[in-house]
Amino acid sequence: MREIDVKVITEKVRDLCIRANTEIGDDVLKAFDRGIEQEESPLAIEILKELKENARVAREEQAPVCQDTGYAVVFVELGQDVHLSGGDLKEAIFEGVRQGYRDGYLRKSICHPFTRKNTGDNTPAVVHTELVPGEKIKVIVAPKGGGSENMSRVVMLTPSDGIEGIKRYVVQRVKESGSNPCPPTIVGIGIGGNFEEVALLAKKSLLRPLGTRNPDPELDRLESEILTEINKLGIGPQGLGGRITSLAVHILMMPCHIASFPLGVNIQCHVHRHKEAIL
Ligand code: SF4
Repeated sequence: MREIDVKVITEKVRDLCIRANTEIGDDVLKAFDRGIEQEESPLAIEILKELKENARVAREEQAPVCQDTGYAVVFVELGQDVHLSGGDLKEAIFEGVRQGYRDGYLRKSICHPFTRKNTGDNTPAVVHTELVPGEKIKVIVAPKGGGSENMSRVVMLTPSDGIEGIKRYVVQRVKESGSNPCPPTIVGIGIGGNFEEVALLAKKSLLRPLGTRNPDPELDRLESEILTEINKLGIGPQGLGGRITSLAVHILMMPCHIASFPLGVNIQCHVHRHKEAIL
């Protein structure tokens, strides 16, 4: 049994909040490059270059890549041979978020749903904890912007809707979202499970590095087909027209109830932020 003080987790979450908000991953920058190669509209190409430049400036000056520094979503894979000491895991994560958003000068964006009064420190965070074998802890911080989250949906299709029903719904969702999620987007799709699980599948699918293939050949093909249809919509970068409305489509799937066909669509903006650490 390995003992880990939760203070270590607080420090790590603090750093990950700052890094996630200021350092866009190389996989995203490469996806911008691919977009620049494939785009035909001169304005859209210019916008993609500006997004790259924005990411460069943010990294060099340790400034947030977007003013919306997001809801702090934290995934924890907790080894079942770890004993946590020194306090409560969730509170330790919240403290890391508090410190990260304070020390990184990140906007606090969380408020009471009715009064809209800001909680003042970007807590609570949304924490997903999963027990896994081993004696390590993996922590992923994935801040999520309001504009793209607002365009996301869970829908219970019927089994007879089939794969064509999935394609139709996702492409229509992207079309109706227009410029709201700050395209070019990454479209995370969950298929199967139940009502709550499908939303989580869609969000988790976004954690796969851009430019990598889905290990399931059928889902890999479906990702390409949906991306092709999305990029025929003409919405383009920032919604100002062009081919590159989305940089990627990612899918995670699991079995579902015989009477159900759950679908989750979690749209992610071009500020595709997540950083991880293993303790
Ligand atoms: S949707 Fe993304 S890019 Fe747009 S304002 Fe929100 S965080 Fe920023």
